[in-house]
Formats: sequence, C-alpha cells, structure tokens
Amino acid sequence: MPEIQNNSPEYMQGRYMAELDRLKELPEVTNHYGEILTAGQELVDSFSIKPEFFDDKSRSVIFTSLAYSLSETKEESGLTWTEINSRRQFIGDATFLLSKNYSDLHEVQKLKNQHSYQEAGNTQKLSAEAELKVLNKYTDAPETTRLEGMIKRRGIFLEVAQKLGIKSNEIDPVNLHVLNIGHGTEAVHFDLEADGLSWPEAYDWAKGLEARGNKFAHEFPYGNLLVRATGFSYTINGGQHIFLRFEPAEILLAEESGVALKENTKERQLTRALGSLKHEFVHSQKDELVEDEFGKSLEERRAEYFSGDNGEYFEEKRFFNLLGILTGVHVTKLMDKQAQVRAQGGNMNLYYELAKTYGLGMVAKIAAVRPSVYTNHAQSDFTKSMLTNLGSYDDVVVEMGRLLNNQQIIEAKEQLVYTMESQKQKSVKVNTTNTYLKPVLEILGVPQRVS
Ligand SMILES: [Zn+2]
Repeated sequence: MPEIQNNSPEYMQGRYMAELDRLKELPEVTNHYGEILTAGQELVDSFSIKPEFFDDKSRSVIFTSLAYSLSETKEESGLTWTEINSRRQFIGDATFLLSKNYSDLHEVQKLKNQHSYQEAGNTQKLSAEAELKVLNKYTDAPETTRLEGMIKRRGIFLEVAQKLGIKSNEIDPVNLHVLNIGHGTEAVHFDLEADGLSWPEAYDWAKGLEARGNKFAHEFPYGNLLVRATGFSYTINGGQHIFLRFEPAEILLAEESGVALKENTKERQLTRALGSLKHEFVHSQKDELVEDEFGKSLEERRAEYFSGDNGEYFEEKRFFNLLGILTGVHVTKLMDKQAQVRAQGGNMNLYYELAKTYGLGMVAKIAAVRPSVYTNHAQSDFTKSMLTNLGSYDDVVVEMGRLLNNQQIIEAKEQLVYTMESQKQKSVKVNTTNTYLKPVLEILGVPQRVS
C-alpha cells in the first residue's frame, strides 16, 4: 500500500482542515466552513504550500483570513470587476509573501529570489558576520557599558518586561549597542556653557557623529533609513540587538555623568530618549511580525503602547484609534489581555483575537496595512503591489465600517462622542471639522462641520 507522503494533497488537506477546525469558534468559520475550505485549498494548491506552513498559528489565522476574503470576492457580493480584480491581486500577493518560505514550487522560488534581491535594495545582502562587524565598528564600547549599567540599576527593561507579562527569567537576552553616529545637530539639547564647551568644540563633535553616520548609511543594509532613527532593533543569527544613537544615550546618561541639558527641553528629551530605548526593547521581546512582512503597524503600536506612547507613529495610532471607535475595542486592550495571559503562564494569539474582535476578513488587512510612506517606497514590487491593492489606512477603516450592523453603528456613535469628550480633556484637537475622524464620520453618517 502506498504510504501517504507528508506533502501529498491528502495530507496537506488534512493539515489545513485541522487548522480550520481550531478556528471554529469564529462565526465566519462556522457559517462558511465549506467556502473557506475550498478557497484555502485553491491558495494551497496555487502556491504549493507545505504542511509546515501551518505550524505557526499567526500564519494560519492570516492565511484563513485571506481564504475567507477570497471566498467573499465574487460578483454576487455586489463588487465591481475592478474591485474583484484588485482584491484578488491583494490576496495573491499577500499569500505569496506569507508562504514564500514554505513552498517548493519552482515559480515561487524564482519570485522569492527576485523579492529578496529587491528587498536588499539591489545590493548584495550582508552575511550575519559582516553585519555584526559593521555594527561593532560603530559601537561606542564605553558608552554602551555605561548605558547597560544604568538600565540594570534602574531596572528599565525589567519594568517593561513586567508590563508585557514576561517574567525576568523569560526575557530574551538583548545585546545593546550605542552607535557613535548622528545627524550633526546633536549639540542643540546640551547646555554648552554649563558643560564648559565652546561652540566650535560642540560643532566638531556633532560633525564627527554626522560624518560617521554618513559612512554607516553606506555600509549597513537600510543604513540610510536607520541612521535617521533614534534607535532600532535587529535580529542577527537569532540574537536580539538594540541600537541607540549616541545623542539619546548621552541624554539618558547626562545626570550621572554630570552633563548639563538645556533646561527648557530637558524633560521632553529625557522622556523621548527613555521612550525610544523602551520601544526598541519591546520589539526585541516576542514581536508580532509574521514573515517580516505582516504585523508591522501592529508591532509599532505594541512597542509604543508598552513604552509609554512617547514616540511618534501617528498614522498607526490614528488607524487603531479609528478601529477602536468603530468596534468599541481598542487594540491595546487586546495587548493588555495578551500580557495578562502570558503573566499567568498562558499563551494568547493576538491575530486570533483580532479575528474575534474585528472579524476574520479584517485580519489580513490589519496585518498588511502600513503608513503611506512604505507603500510609495516599498523595496520590492511584490510588497508594493500588495499595499497598493489593499489601499491606505483609511481604506481599511472603510472596510471595517462595511461590517457593522445598525446596533454597532449606534454604539460606535456613542463611542465617538466619548472619544471626542476625552480627547477634549487632553486638549487634543479632535473635532468634526478634523480630517482625523473623516472615514469614521462618513461610516457613521455624522455630518462634518465646515470651519
Ligand atoms: Zn519601532
């Protein structure tokens, strides 16, 4: 009797069905089981997806979301041909990007190589050893040691880990690097007179950091983008690394090294620098990225939330605020719940919670959507095509609106009033003349005032 191979269609279908059964708590899966199974099978066959693909629950949930959307993408749903084409294109691109590491298909491998070539900015990707070599070259060892000492003494990472529900013995080890690179504007936050520095000296120091920053930008992958960030986190050979530019490290160490900061910007600068450090630490602990392509907005929102919301990421924050107004559940609530479950030794999959809260069809869209700047500057044609066919944050908010029933619309209006009241108390400018709420006001049928 022939043995059933692990990649045989029978085995694969069994594997996918088992995954679908695990998601049966979702109303969409219960009500459309047959259609989702058929559509998912079509995707599995088209991309020749291997059974291991389903080993990860986040991947499985995003995949099932795409399969559900595929089953819903038809003329009978009242969609125009253009809409159908664009949706099918999104589903195809997203499935490729999600499953590219789990397919033997020659065509998929060819596309994958093309994708990684474009991702690397058409240059040779560095090996892990070469990346580390560049990073070590720009690491200021004494400053790094000082900052490590301060983080330990003040229990900065422990405090964030606790918020994340991660016990101290379960923290993924982090390698810290203070990079001696900058923009050339570093002197502005220091009180030069009190620090006994002349302008030319400060200028030389800042220019030195800038010159090294420019060199780093050429030597490291995405260096031109990273050099502009206050900090970034990076995985090399499975190890977690956090990088901080020299200036925020100096600001954080100012008090203990007796360096004076300008009084009028001192508090803000300290909060920002500490926020950046914590933000990168959150990224280094059990991030929500899937195949390095999905969950980017979600992961930034998570990093901001658990680091005290001191950074920017305005587009991501607005997007999740609008989803929160429409559904009554803010994504940070789900993140808190996940942290609580983790603290009790459990495991809660955030993508599954997104499906329960915002609907199965929304998961892949929430996982894929990114700020407009990424759509315009996506490195690879595949990512660009996926994001273009998906649309902007506002387009995804509109999709969310289509799923609401009358009762939910009424509740969303109450939520809107509540949000506007509480924003007013925080003296944030949010009103019905503001573009901030535009898609939500349209969905809820609230007339927009003209100022
Ligand atoms: Zn980040």
